[in-house]
Amino acid sequence: MDSVITDPVTKAPFDVESVRRDFPVLKGKAHGKPLIYFDNAATSQKPQVVIDKLVDYYSNYNANIHRGVHYLSQKASNEFDVVRSIVQKFINASSEREIIFVKGTTEGINLVASTYGRKNVKAGDEVIVSAMEHHSNIVPWQMLCEEKGATLKVIPMNEKGEIIMEEYKKLLSDKTKFVSVVHTSNSLGTVNPVKEIIRLAHERNIPVMVDAAQGIVHSTIDVQKLDCDFLTFSGHKVFSPTGTGVLFGKTELLEAMPPYQGGGEMISSVKFEKTTYNEIPYKFEAGTPNIADVIGLGAGLNYFSGIDQAGAHAHEQALLKYASEKLSAIDGVRLIGTAKEKASVVSFVIDGLNALDVGMFLDTMGIAVRTGQHCTEPVMDQFCIPGTIRASFLFYNTFAEIDSLIEGVKKAIKLLKN
Ligand code: PMP
Repeated sequence: MDSVITDPVTKAPFDVESVRRDFPVLKGKAHGKPLIYFDNAATSQKPQVVIDKLVDYYSNYNANIHRGVHYLSQKASNEFDVVRSIVQKFINASSEREIIFVKGTTEGINLVASTYGRKNVKAGDEVIVSAMEHHSNIVPWQMLCEEKGATLKVIPMNEKGEIIMEEYKKLLSDKTKFVSVVHTSNSLGTVNPVKEIIRLAHERNIPVMVDAAQGIVHSTIDVQKLDCDFLTFSGHKVFSPTGTGVLFGKTELLEAMPPYQGGGEMISSVKFEKTTYNEIPYKFEAGTPNIADVIGLGAGLNYFSGIDQAGAHAHEQALLKYASEKLSAIDGVRLIGTAKEKASVVSFVIDGLNALDVGMFLDTMGIAVRTGQHCTEPVMDQFCIPGTIRASFLFYNTFAEIDSLIEGVKKAIKLLKN
């Protein structure tokens, strides 16, 4: 029988062995060694229930939705539509109408920049992001600012990788038309004080978008409590299929926004003289959606909701503490991102060693880490490094796996340093 692991910090019992059994890939091998998957910030693994849901859709009721009167189409439509309510409850939106299916965080941000942004940002205005944004929360705003003659302002961060709130306050002005910030940094692990960031912007009636690509899997997201105006996340980072994502927007904002793409489903009537658009959320969902994967997203979120959330969080925090202590005790290893509030993402560099070489070495031991800039080049620039080695943990990871990482890093230093 598998033992229940008691986490060494919180003493909370979290049955890691039991949740691991839900993820078939974790039983696998890499280069003949048991797989140790520490690339969760790039994408999470999928539980069997999600895989089964996809197989069930394609095996038993593959059909286009919302258009067919036949049995299969009805069944597919029902399975698809229910996911909107699963998402609504998952992030505590006040209405299903505020949930738009997109293909991921990147599309969620691009949608808002090119609809809300194009309509409301004018020459001389300012848009604020933070210094730790993923490229997908920088480039769409840069493109918008370039098109409109607006300016992108950046909230600086300190040497720990924390947003400097005093500087943020100074950046807010009558010129500010939008703020878009990351909930949890994918390269540093920092969990930002988004509620406070939103509150301060709202004092000046400035809307705020939250990039919850990482936050969605490490924190409980409640859009009403946060009072964010927009929030987006990708399904694939939260146990669900790739190609799925969610954009949440407050009803009154979504209703006032022009559509994103034109096509079927997003219209209520098309005449050559004039087209009228469908109501939200359909106004923003042109064309056949990613039916199977959205149905899989419902299964993924249901799976996650069924996990002991407090136990999972405590376990991830214990893994973070364990790995951070063990890594920083190794001579020549430096952690990048030491914020007080962190999710279970550990980025580090090793004196004299190239991150890529270390990543490739660890791979030979069956350990999957990510190396490089993690789509956050400005973060690397601030720390004056070309990239980091990143190990990111989810609740299915174990302390023994971290011991293997530590052993691997020590070996890499010994073998690669000469
Ligand atoms: N923001 C953050 C913080 C991320 O970690 C990622 C994915 N690495 C993205 C945005 C982009 O997500 P996607 O590629 O799924 O659209």
